[in-house]
Amino acid sequence: MASPEALETLRRVFGYDAFRPGQAEIIEHVAGGGDALVLMPTGGGKSLCYQIPALVRKGTGVVISPLIALMQDQVDALRALGVQAGFLNSTQDLDERRVVEAQFLAGELDLLYLAPERLRVPATIDLLDRGAVSLFAIDEAHCVSQWGHDFRPDYLMLSGLHERWPDVPRIALTATATEETRAEIASRLNLDGARHFVASFDRPNIQYRIEPKTDAKRQLLRLLQNEHLGDAGIVYCLSRNSVEKHAAFLTENGIEALPYHAGLDARTRAANQSRFLREDGLVIVATIAFGMGIDKPDVRFVAHLDLPKSVEGYYQETGRAGRDGLPSTAWLAYGLQDVVNLRKMIDAGEGDAAHRRRQSLHLDAMLALCETVDCRRVRLLDYFGQAGEPCGNCDTCLTPPETWDGTVPAQKVLSTVVRLDRERRQKFGAGHIIDILLGKKNAKVIQFDHDELKVFGIGTELRDTEWRAVVRQLLAQGLLTVEPNYGALVLTETSTDVLRGEREVLMRREPERVAAKTAKDRKAPVDLPAEAEPVFERLRAWRGATAKAQGVPAYVIFHDATLREIATALPSSLAELAKVGGVGENKLAKYGDQVLETLADG
Ligand code: ADP
Ligand code: ZN
Repeated sequence: MASPEALETLRRVFGYDAFRPGQAEIIEHVAGGGDALVLMPTGGGKSLCYQIPALVRKGTGVVISPLIALMQDQVDALRALGVQAGFLNSTQDLDERRVVEAQFLAGELDLLYLAPERLRVPATIDLLDRGAVSLFAIDEAHCVSQWGHDFRPDYLMLSGLHERWPDVPRIALTATATEETRAEIASRLNLDGARHFVASFDRPNIQYRIEPKTDAKRQLLRLLQNEHLGDAGIVYCLSRNSVEKHAAFLTENGIEALPYHAGLDARTRAANQSRFLREDGLVIVATIAFGMGIDKPDVRFVAHLDLPKSVEGYYQETGRAGRDGLPSTAWLAYGLQDVVNLRKMIDAGEGDAAHRRRQSLHLDAMLALCETVDCRRVRLLDYFGQAGEPCGNCDTCLTPPETWDGTVPAQKVLSTVVRLDRERRQKFGAGHIIDILLGKKNAKVIQFDHDELKVFGIGTELRDTEWRAVVRQLLAQGLLTVEPNYGALVLTETSTDVLRGEREVLMRREPERVAAKTAKDRKAPVDLPAEAEPVFERLRAWRGATAKAQGVPAYVIFHDATLREIATALPSSLAELAKVGGVGENKLAKYGDQVLETLADG
């Protein structure tokens, strides 16, 4: 149960009616001085869990966040709500910092955002000592974990907060943690005595879809044109080169897309990120360096053109879609070559054998997700230790794939590998193996006399793409692996069971594409009754102009979800407008009249 004070703050400041699941309990606990470890999916509503206690308690809530580039936006969004917020990080000059420090010391700040490396500086510790800290919030807490996918050394220093300020409550928050990561976070942050709050990780509004990569560009374009025209979205690629290529390709095809990767200079990167946040309906094509902590609520799709390295990473990245709770798509195209590349990268990568082993396990779990014939969501939740029911909103639920007995084709591939093994210093990849099975007399086949192998031409019952699926699934099932030095395909310990006929190999048959089924009813960025659509568009135009004039992202003014509610409820007075979710005291005072005028204009 939330205290009247917390509920009053939720309504007055944030303009929301009720707490989301989990929020009230966490807020009570932390407001009462307790430590907390909070696991909630992206979009679950973590920020309120420390913002409201910070508003309710005396002093300033100090938020540790690695997302320097976003602090300005976070602070702007809070100020738009009438919350006194500031930040300290390396992007500021001395004068700017002094102002914020003075505000903090004068007790004028409700919230102070700090980059973790600030705590390395003794002057920061001294500053915090001289002011009044109401709580420490450690955002993106998984960054403290070396087992996870996003380790930041500066986070290790956060273990000292407790000794230094034993009476200040700490709340660590993350959207991604398996059991192992959670235990590691608790121990590294000295949060073993803290209460753990684990919300459901499910993101029911996200539709998960994974399909084999045939022609990535065309597949992507089809997705965007059929289902997400005019929507904001993120496209993830593994390499800078691929980012550039795909951004250009989309733009040539009439979909405005901006690149984002570490090879761009800092200014271009910041400018592209800022445009993506501020403008409606832009697509950003990025390496995974993009997007952590992006709280743009109306990202309608996240597309992966390469296989992510772990389920945790995948879930974190796809979680950036649909934070506003409206229908969104998480789409991934993956192919044989992805598996080969990632296996090679892991083997050639840094770190000791244990580290490589961990990475390899991460990849196995990701592959298992790709090749599953079960509900994707059930698989994902299971990975995070939670139970789920088949969801009806993922590709395997919408168009269930069939399984087929692939033992014989598997044996054919494996015996070809055995025969090529004698020449393992040659890079005989999947393509060559498939050419042999199909009996193609191409230059390479002739050069190595592979048309004389017993397996030559024994696989004409399947097409090239089907053979690729077979090889991909053998890799996914660990029945085939990649030789680290030359990248050739080689047998594993379990391959012989298949060759001897002691093990059956079940495979997934790709169903017809699911897009066709869902495209029709998902054209509008937010589902609206037809008569509300022009009103929504008018409100959106007003919002765009207002945001531009103020130099803030559009969602800082109002979220899509709020505009949508206004467009359907058509309030005719300030009192009625105040009832709409997301319209708090400050925004009502600031924008209320303009919204009513915009409605009256219609
Ligand atoms: P997270 O940090 O967990 O990803 P946020 O704190 O950014 O999530 O919240 C996600 C979205 O949900 C935001 O748009 C936020 O304003 C909204 N939200 C959070 N709590 C509530 C609530 N109790 N009622 C309505 N909307 C909420
Ligand atoms: Zn499902």
